[in-house]
Amino acid sequence: MTSEISLIQQIDALLPQTQCGLCGHRDGCLPYAKAISEGEEANKCVPGGQPVADTLAALLNRSHLIAEASVWPIQSDGRPQRVKAVIREDECIGCTKCISACPVDAIIGSGKLMHTVLTDLCTGCELCIPPCPVDCIDLVEEFDQVPSEPVRIAEQNDLRRRYYAHIQREEKRRIHRKGPVVRAEIDTELFAQFSTQTDSVPVIEVVEKPTTPVVQLDAKTTIELAKIRTQIKKLEKQLSVRDDAKKRELLHTLTQQLTQLQGA
Ligand code: SF4
Ligand code: SF4
Ligand code: SF4
Repeated sequence: MTSEISLIQQIDALLPQTQCGLCGHRDGCLPYAKAISEGEEANKCVPGGQPVADTLAALLNRSHLIAEASVWPIQSDGRPQRVKAVIREDECIGCTKCISACPVDAIIGSGKLMHTVLTDLCTGCELCIPPCPVDCIDLVEEFDQVPSEPVRIAEQNDLRRRYYAHIQREEKRRIHRKGPVVRAEIDTELFAQFSTQTDSVPVIEVVEKPTTPVVQLDAKTTIELAKIRTQIKKLEKQLSVRDDAKKRELLHTLTQQLTQLQGA
């Protein structure tokens, strides 16, 4: 088991940590590293391009395969062009959907206020683009110097750390959710396991899923609960578009009522 974990960590250390899912692993680099260790082909990391496919083939003593093609041109280091997201701020409606979609927390802003991308942190993973309801996020090519190997490794380590921090925050948020849900739930347990055995990443604690109430609810309470849930959903939807103090207060009251009734 220790050697399996060590192999997965060695593979993960070579992956770009963009967490884009373009390899077919929705939750990012670590699940792909695990799949490679179990036999999946090691040429599917699109942002890593041919250099990553070749390094992995050498590590695993496998034959060299042509890397999965990118839509971007190839840079001088053999990897696809680095890109960054830019929000057209005058068109942004402040819905916050892009924030929870960003795996490395590179977007700042809050409800109703315009959002902006911290370009130093953005990996160009594109995950913020589909959730944006007004399509105001562009990808632009990054023309800075291609990073040296040590700079890239430091960057990857930082992205990994940021992604684990993001997962931990989303995990806590899953239970006491505020704001819209954009990303499908991440398989947190895998990351939690690795977080305890990987240096320089925050330890991830899996939050206990709420247990289903064991009490049998009478028909009146069940109907009341359904009504409250519908009202809550409606309010959450409205608040995700436009903040409103009264609606937020009503949402708070309804959430309390729901908790009380569920425990009835
Ligand atoms: S950076 Fe590569 S390995 Fe990581 S999620 Fe994207 S495609 Fe997969
Ligand atoms: S800002 Fe968008 S493109 Fe940049 S890292 Fe975050 S989700 Fe990816
Ligand atoms: S998803 Fe689009 S509209 Fe919503 S906050 Fe982000 S950039 Fe602005």
